[in-house]
Amino acid sequence: MKPQKLFKYISAFFFPCRCPFCGKVITPDEICCNQCSPKIKTNISKHFIGNSWLCTSPFKYTDLPKQAVLRLKFNDCGQIAPLMAEYMTASVKESFSDYSFDIVTFVPMHKKRKRKSLYNHSKLLAAEISKNLDVPIASLLVKTKNNSLQHRLPSQERIKNVKGVYSVNKKYGKTLKGKTVLLCDDVITTGSTLSECCKVLEKAGAKDVFCVAFSKA
Ligand SMILES: [Zn+2]
Repeated sequence: MKPQKLFKYISAFFFPCRCPFCGKVITPDEICCNQCSPKIKTNISKHFIGNSWLCTSPFKYTDLPKQAVLRLKFNDCGQIAPLMAEYMTASVKESFSDYSFDIVTFVPMHKKRKRKSLYNHSKLLAAEISKNLDVPIASLLVKTKNNSLQHRLPSQERIKNVKGVYSVNKKYGKTLKGKTVLLCDDVITTGSTLSECCKVLEKAGAKDVFCVAFSKA
């Protein structure tokens, strides 16, 4: 048994792997449980956000994929992130096979929200995708204003709500020039958050930015 696989089994003994869609305990070799497996249909889509950036996602934000996102966000189920990231990685490989990425990054949280939640779920997904694609991860963005939560706002107010909220992490300002970036998030609804992040990254010198989200509302 390879050391990586052995580690997976030992860690599953203490923190059992769970089906991302229903929460049932599964073996470390499974991606979801036997009951959810026949019901899960990936629907890999590729679409533009803000008319400029391509985004891919393996699922629509309905039924079981929605349950997975809620479980990741609110049940502190960090251990389902690697399984969700498997689907996202497949989506990236299928949709962006002509591109190679230099950096994987994620939508950041404001420090006040970070204190309240155990994880930044987008960062957890990005870290797994980075491992799967063998592309380094970096916290390229920072959230400088603690704005209202996007999902509580009507769609026409979401663009205004995210304007000027993100900026580039000074640490990476110079290294970003000419790079192709893969930006990760859990759900895409109107695309306002992702397109604002893409804008900021390109303004700071990124050559291209592509996005991946677990599901598309
Ligand atoms: Zn299940």
